Amino acid sequence: EAIVGNLIGEKHPNYILMYNMLTGIRIGVSRTQAKVKRPLTDDDYKAKHKYSFDIVGNELTPSAKYDFKFKDYAPWVFRELREECFHLDPADYLLSLTAKYILTELGSPGKSGSFFYFSSDYRFIIKTIHHAEHKFLRSILKDYHEHVKTNPHTLLSRFYGLHRVKLPRGRKIHFVIMNNLFPPHRDIHETYDLKGSTVGRELSEEKIRQNPRAVQKDLNWINNHKQLELGPEKRALFIEQIRRDTAFLKRANVMDYSLLVGIHNMKRGNRDNVRRNTLHVVQPHDGRIQRRKPSQMKGHRDGGPFTAGAMRRAIRQSELKPVESQTNLAEENLWDRQNFIFYQDEGGYRGTDECNQPLPTIYYLGVIDILTPYTVFKQVENAWKGLSADRHKISPVPAAEYGERFWRFMNAVTRGGGGGESFKPVEKHK
Ligand code: ATP
Ligand code: CA
Ligand code: CA
Repeated sequence: EAIVGNLIGEKHPNYILMYNMLTGIRIGVSRTQAKVKRPLTDDDYKAKHKYSFDIVGNELTPSAKYDFKFKDYAPWVFRELREECFHLDPADYLLSLTAKYILTELGSPGKSGSFFYFSSDYRFIIKTIHHAEHKFLRSILKDYHEHVKTNPHTLLSRFYGLHRVKLPRGRKIHFVIMNNLFPPHRDIHETYDLKGSTVGRELSEEKIRQNPRAVQKDLNWINNHKQLELGPEKRALFIEQIRRDTAFLKRANVMDYSLLVGIHNMKRGNRDNVRRNTLHVVQPHDGRIQRRKPSQMKGHRDGGPFTAGAMRRAIRQSELKPVESQTNLAEENLWDRQNFIFYQDEGGYRGTDECNQPLPTIYYLGVIDILTPYTVFKQVENAWKGLSADRHKISPVPAAEYGERFWRFMNAVTRGGGGGESFKPVEKHK
């Protein structure tokens, strides 16, 4: 289970996939970005833009190293999500992902078989998703956008793009781009993935001994007497946002999501970390640290000088560039995580005491894995698992029940909510 991130070099088996993903993003996103912004229409949510890349190139797509097809789903919607909702600087986004052709592959930490990749600066995560998840995201995209607009402080995964790469052999790989909840510049001393379910939700002591930073689960949280230490003010904000986000997930019929909690203890500090400018640090899911010298970070450069300055100048000078976006660039110091309540303290949410005074703990929080609808597949699994365990403690329950249980657990895990120990799985009422 020890998964350590691997830099994808030219000899890596997924190098071509990575190259194609990044090339597609680079061309697709900058193509949309170069156009004058306009209000969204209903068709934008269903839109897909196709690109065909080959080694020769054509008027639409520059030549690439490999032949492949790329689809950009709902590009205008994701542009709006990135810029209007998540306050991402468009140039920064492209730069982070494609300035260097470097990704760190985490492999497949979950049971789903999805692969995870970090952008070279660790701000973004690319997650490959199943076709069903892809279809589901498209089906809820409008509601998701609406939710994020009305809940600017949502804790739900931030989706920045949805794409597909098709390799010549015909393999189709869908992927989303989302936020990395954990900051590259801070040690995360403990990580928990919490669902509010207790059956099978425990990482063995053996595994924790092997690696104290492995991702732990609900029962570990309860047994370790953990709490999110939040004073009344911060607790109320957190609980209210979780309530709204789970209400949305219930309506969308989603289940199997979890609250990812990364804990940074400021007293322990970044002992295992290093100065940002000298070394790059990878913190994969299992918490093991890998350090790299900047010399190892030099990526394959494709398509010319994609330095920050060059990219900004290109965008600024583009004749197609709308005036309003130029203003946005000028305001770019506003475009960061400080806008968001739960990401305001060094990219996270700092713990507070009963008098709302800061504690030396920063939480990195988010609701992840939100693309599993309660489908027939889950119903079958539910019936099957229900034979052997208490139906309400196990993970696959209908979305409303799942949300209810999740919500109760979140109340219990914050201080003032009675503590994790008091959590009882939801009893059946009717
Ligand atoms: P499964 O369906 O088996 O739970 P999955 O492949 O759908 O697995 P996720 O649950 O999305 O995977 O994520 C697996 C792990 O990856 C999480 O427990 C967490 O450690 C890490 N992870 C996922 N999303 C993020 C994120 N946005 N930021 C930081 N870490 C993340
Ligand atoms: Ca999961
Ligand atoms: Ca999943």
